[in-house]
Amino acid sequence: MAVPSETEQIQKALAAGQLSVLDSATGYHRSMYAHCPKDNHDAPVWRTERSGQAISRLVFRCPACGTEFDAKPDGMFPPLRPAVPYRRCISAAMRR
Ligand SMILES: [Zn+2]
Repeated sequence: MAVPSETEQIQKALAAGQLSVLDSATGYHRSMYAHCPKDNHDAPVWRTERSGQAISRLVFRCPACGTEFDAKPDGMFPPLRPAVPYRRCISAAMRR
């Protein structure tokens, strides 16, 4: 069974208007991130433009230096290398 590449998964999610990709191994949705072109910091999605249901443009904003930049699907990093590991989300939820 062929496993779709990360880029393919991202393109599919964007076409469906989604900003996260389902990780079939864990069942968690992982939000898309990209690396800041200036300092390589992990930058979350800042702004989106849609054409119909599909997301046609993504703008990311670096939390460290404030740079806003576009990223193509093959420049985003997605499911297999999440910026925020889901384990951290779980431990944060358990802290209360
Ligand atoms: Zn930056």
